[in-house]
Amino acid sequence: MTGRRYTGSADGAAKGCRAGLKVLIDEIVSLSGNSLWNNGDFVVRNMRGKETLSVHATGRAVDLSYRFIRAGKGKKDGRAVALQWCRLLTEHADAIGLEMIIDYWPEPYGRAWRCDRDGWVKYERKMVSGAPHGDWLHVEVSPKMADDPAGMKAAFEKIAISLSGQISG
Ligand SMILES: [Zn+2]
Repeated sequence: MTGRRYTGSADGAAKGCRAGLKVLIDEIVSLSGNSLWNNGDFVVRNMRGKETLSVHATGRAVDLSYRFIRAGKGKKDGRAVALQWCRLLTEHADAIGLEMIIDYWPEPYGRAWRCDRDGWVKYERKMVSGAPHGDWLHVEVSPKMADDPAGMKAAFEKIAISLSGQISG
């Protein structure tokens, strides 16, 4: 499916990390064996260097780092795991209400996936601070799925199945 509308920060500041997003974070951290870890979800602030409210303030965005710090946080092949999750999340985008992923690593300026174009675009100029070589993914979900923890959980049961298929296949 293509062309789901992108919300951005249009729904305004929330009171905290929303229940559906919490499920997504817990599931990704667990299914990735802590290769991806929560480096920040809810915070009320503007986008870095901009006047617009960050989507982190809506309680629908998380930064998932794949930085290897010490036992329990990250793995040495973190980038490969992050790429696997970029594929998994975009393949299941409609089920989890995925609206955006920013991948800060690729040169020269990173890349981003968005629901309204249903695909990745490589940034051709400086769009986000942290790119290139930022070792985390910024992930946003829709207001609907941010408030539907049961639906999110069900979607991740399917993701877990495709993940085990990828490992054994
Ligand atoms: Zn972020």
